[in-house]
Amino acid sequence: MKLIPLPAFDDNYIWMLHDGQRALVVDPGDAQPVMAALRHEGVQLQGILVTHHHPDHTGGVDALRDATGASVFGPAREPMPEPLQRLSEGETAQLLGLSFRVLDVPGHTAGHIAYFCENPGEAPVLFCGDTLFSGGCGRLFEGTAQQMHTSLGRLAALPGATRVCCAHEYTLSNLKFAREVEPDNPRLAAYQARCQALRTQNLPTLPSTIDTEREINPFMRSEQPTIIASARRFDDSGVEAHGAFATLRQWKNQYR
Ligand SMILES: [Zn+2]
Ligand SMILES: [Zn+2]
Repeated sequence: MKLIPLPAFDDNYIWMLHDGQRALVVDPGDAQPVMAALRHEGVQLQGILVTHHHPDHTGGVDALRDATGASVFGPAREPMPEPLQRLSEGETAQLLGLSFRVLDVPGHTAGHIAYFCENPGEAPVLFCGDTLFSGGCGRLFEGTAQQMHTSLGRLAALPGATRVCCAHEYTLSNLKFAREVEPDNPRLAAYQARCQALRTQNLPTLPSTIDTEREINPFMRSEQPTIIASARRFDDSGVEAHGAFATLRQWKNQYR
């Protein structure tokens, strides 16, 4: 299987997975880069997976469905471009001969879902939309910090080698904040250097892996004593009242 991030808008990635004949894409906010990639790769679009309702993730769905006849899958509880097959926790989308299992991961939006796929002989793949970013997590537009914390905990429990396909190239700005939170994490410093080198060449920093995120992402490490201590320095009473995770999210919201 070939996994390709298609850049769209300023910093979105529309992920494409294909087997040389059939393809799927995830969160096509724009149809044009997908149509170009289908031609370039010489593949047919079989399916579209959508993680949540924001327009930069759904804007190209109708045009792609009309142009290719692809089946569309999306969250059970969000406004979506119809018609589509609505999925929730534990259900699967069958595409390219593979099974994409749905996880409910509310927080960024109320009904956000992620898709996880294991294919023997390859590292698993996670399409996590705007829930998990490399070095960070989505803003809480509709859900609570508690929900996002639980959602990230579920993603952190996936196999370490899982390739994490996030929907935005936010890595460098996330890592700047992560280093503020955890200045003495050597893995984080090394990862930041690697990602800076990639961006200098205009290459994606993604996919990441679950192993990497467990080591460098403060939002997956909010139980670590050093991170709790940092969060307390930012807002001690916030940590007392709402916990380190919620305080980190608050801190990141106002961090420049
Ligand atoms: Zn979003
Ligand atoms: Zn987005």
